[in-house]
Amino acid sequence: MTEISHWIGGTAWSQPGPRVGEVFNPATGRVIAQVAMADECVVDAAVGAATTASVEWGRSSLAVRARVLFAFRDLVEHQKRDLAGILTMEHGKVASDALGEVTRGLEVIDFACGLPQLLKGEFSENVSSEVDSYSIRQPLGVVAGITPFNFPAMVPMWMFPIAIACGNAFVLKPSEKDPSASLFLARLWAEAGLPAGVFNVVQGDKEAVDAILSHPGIVAVSFVGSTPVARYIYETATRAGKRVQALGGAKNHMVVLPDADLELAADAAVGAAFGSTGQRCMAIAILVAVGDVADRLLPRICARIRRLVVAPGDQAGAEMGPLTTRDAHSRVVSYLERGAREGATLLEDGRRLRIPGHEQGFFVGPCLFDHVTPGMSIYTDEIFGPVLGVVRVDSYEAAMHLVNTNPYANGVAIFTNDGGAARRFQAEVQVGMVGINVPIPVPMAYYSFGGWKQSLFGDAHMHGREGIMFYTRGKVVTARWPDPKHRGVHLGFPQMK
Ligand code: NAD
Repeated sequence: MTEISHWIGGTAWSQPGPRVGEVFNPATGRVIAQVAMADECVVDAAVGAATTASVEWGRSSLAVRARVLFAFRDLVEHQKRDLAGILTMEHGKVASDALGEVTRGLEVIDFACGLPQLLKGEFSENVSSEVDSYSIRQPLGVVAGITPFNFPAMVPMWMFPIAIACGNAFVLKPSEKDPSASLFLARLWAEAGLPAGVFNVVQGDKEAVDAILSHPGIVAVSFVGSTPVARYIYETATRAGKRVQALGGAKNHMVVLPDADLELAADAAVGAAFGSTGQRCMAIAILVAVGDVADRLLPRICARIRRLVVAPGDQAGAEMGPLTTRDAHSRVVSYLERGAREGATLLEDGRRLRIPGHEQGFFVGPCLFDHVTPGMSIYTDEIFGPVLGVVRVDSYEAAMHLVNTNPYANGVAIFTNDGGAARRFQAEVQVGMVGINVPIPVPMAYYSFGGWKQSLFGDAHMHGREGIMFYTRGKVVTARWPDPKHRGVHLGFPQMK
């Protein structure tokens, strides 16, 4: 049985801990590894190593940091297929999707490689006579990242390349459900020449998270996961005086206006609802069909669903893999029962799927509900599986009302050929990331990623300019060089002359 350890001070931490967790291959339903579960002592050891390393790393030149980042970037690029294979093995996502995840993570490393440019301050000469002012941004010290199971490589990579480029040391607590990617990345950091202790991994669950939230050595916490845990992280860590960004769950809508290109809309809906088996925070969960669109669009969606290849993620041609956990499988099945009970029409029922030789795998085929209404639990709850619900509305205004009254506000998309309607939508919609004829509008690394309302607790989105701001503190210096003409005692509040 493979043992998955922590990574502390530049090496695997193999001290046996009191608890272990099981890691599954979701395509077979079998346990493939045991993961160590950190307690307070392990977290303390990681923070200790990070604290020591953060001093030198924070003082290191931008040139040295950039060289390590570029080396790390090359290593990830050259080994991305191996990393993607690990994702398929533990998460279940199909090979092309896993490679896409790594590639989107790589974009953030690319962005962080530009750190000498990104960390430039501002300078104003002569803000008063012979007085100059300039701003600098300095690292925070030791920062932590707590990440979800659905993107075991990309979401940590939203955080640590930027945190480390900014001169911080990082403690990552990945999901206990698919923990191996974090160790793979830790080894690449070491190979890239990152000093020991700058990047650390503590495996585990709530016990490890709570030790992070209460540890006085950790200055800032980045979190991505479900809304109840995001709220808990935000409240607990801010109470402990830490800087926090906590990204939560989602229920993303795709609004289709009557004039939309329906072939494009059908392709987009199926890709965005069932890609990664619906386990994306930017997945489309609700399609809002305006006017007569539903009757024209649904046959196109059903035809595409029936052609989807659902199979183990490492099988050639697989388009959709299993859910990641047995719990997720039970949850999805229970929502299918509830949706039907609440009066929605189940047009495609993924429970019928059988994959010979993988009967114990966590598979559910794509599911489609029509006539979903806002009072139903399949509308209100984040199911986080391959279930697309269709809500029929009469007008653009009704669609906008639906989106804007939803407590989640991560992503949204509109499909239309009317530029005026799209422009009005982007102005009026109260959601953090908006797609116009783009179903999954995940921003590039040089923009920032984040939702509104219950999809984000805190002020800063991830990566891009906001990532740099989050992982640094600003300082403004006002300076003049001694000159006899400056002499004399002045008790008045300084005024610029
Ligand atoms: P989760 O909230 O269950 O777990 C996230 C992390 O928190 C994990 O590391 C886990 O070990 C830890 N954790 C779990 N329960 C905890 C508790 N009670 N106290 C302290 N820590 C706890 O989320 P998940 O199931 O791993 O991931 C799926 C969720 O993440 C979905 O809700 C999805 O929408 C969301 N997500 C959001 C984004 C975004 O950018 N907004 C991105 C990816 C995933």
